[in-house]
Amino acid sequence: MKELLEENFEEISRIQTQEHGKCIDESRGETRRGIENVEVACGIPTLMQGYYSEDIATGIDEWVIPTPLGVFGIIGPFNFPFMIPLWSAPYAVATGNCIIVKPSSEVPNSQTRLTELAEEAGFPPGVWNMVHGGRTVVNGLLDHPDIVGITFVGSTPTAKDVIYPRCGETGKRVIAQGGAKNFMVIMPDCNAERTIAAMMTSFFGNTGQRCLSGANLLIVGKDDGFYNHFLNGIIEAASKIRIGYGLDESVQMGPVRDKSKKERIISYIESGIQEGAKLRFDGRKNIAIVGDYPETCFLGPTIFENVTPDMKIGSEEIFGPVMSVMRAGDLDEAIQICNASPFGNGSAIFTSSGSSAKEFQYSVTSGNVGINIGITAPVAFFPFSGMKNSFFGVLHTQGQEAVRFFTESKVIIQRWL
Ligand code: NAD
Repeated sequence: MKELLEENFEEISRIQTQEHGKCIDESRGETRRGIENVEVACGIPTLMQGYYSEDIATGIDEWVIPTPLGVFGIIGPFNFPFMIPLWSAPYAVATGNCIIVKPSSEVPNSQTRLTELAEEAGFPPGVWNMVHGGRTVVNGLLDHPDIVGITFVGSTPTAKDVIYPRCGETGKRVIAQGGAKNFMVIMPDCNAERTIAAMMTSFFGNTGQRCLSGANLLIVGKDDGFYNHFLNGIIEAASKIRIGYGLDESVQMGPVRDKSKKERIISYIESGIQEGAKLRFDGRKNIAIVGDYPETCFLGPTIFENVTPDMKIGSEEIFGPVMSVMRAGDLDEAIQICNASPFGNGSAIFTSSGSSAKEFQYSVTSGNVGINIGITAPVAFFPFSGMKNSFFGVLHTQGQEAVRFFTESKVIIQRWL
């Protein structure tokens, strides 16, 4: 499977750009991250090693065998159509289960190709399955008595109100990953130039449609000089982002996935203006598209200043290229602001101080924490975490935790008479 994915790397990446709009380098990054999970799952003999205890005194030995459970449903969102099902699928099948993948109906093509490759790789019929559809199909998976567990990645309302409670009612194992509102905390002792560059990919990469995208930029300290220097640098860098058709290699930011999503983001921009935030850079107007394309789904980076955490643009998930800039007097206040958010997916601090970084990593209530990293996506060995309204469950997708989720520990207690 790994070999087939490498052979078809470019085709899979192009499909993502064509169906989603993200630029081709972002799709390549997504494909690579997906394949990394397949690679980690190839180490399944080690990952599945149980543990053993030999009792010489009583003659009773005990050990654990991780045992597959049956059929799992894997439900994906629209923003990473190829990668996200691979946070679960390779671990599920490598541990001996069968899967039914239900991709977002908005972007099903890269999963369709993946399922074809699974067949070509030689998985026995019925092991790696896929079903298209929306809510009705999800409800069918949730209610089916032969499905033992669900992994879900999508918005908080679906995770919290539909998937998690329904799995509880029907007795299924569940991992339900939800939405986000991520804080990027900027300390005055950060490397400003490199931090500004990191903010561009964090806030505007994938056109802001990433569960780990920066959403609120929280600048710490009372020094207006640093604040103005940093913010002006952000605006200047954002104005240079090349927007356009994702298959054009020179493009850095593609369109929003569809028109209704663009309209939703614009309604947030309007609410920011109404609530009194200061619009410093307007992505509705500053859209210099590379090439000759209509503006239909394009939207430029948008930057608001003087945002407070109670404003809609400061508290709700926008899921678009909108940056809400806030200020905090010191690190303690910054952490309090981060922790008051109902979401806890990702957060990051930018600093050259080890003690500030330590204080932040221990105190902040988010599952994935960056230190001078703007997109806090763990590599495949590590769990993809989340807290508060960003995650419902116990074990996480990816790596060792996924192996535990997809298996039951069978304990053997042996004595020879
Ligand atoms: P969504 O919740 O609308 O849809 C996700 C999946 O659930 C889709 O397959 C969809 O068909 C299905 N679905 C939607 N509504 C349903 C309902 N009422 N009943 C049953 N099934 C339903 O999410 P989306 O818009 O596709 O994806 C974007 C969201 O996903 C954002 O909120 C983003 O933050 C989140 N996300 C989270 C993570 C994470 O790791 N926490 C990663 C990526 C995306």
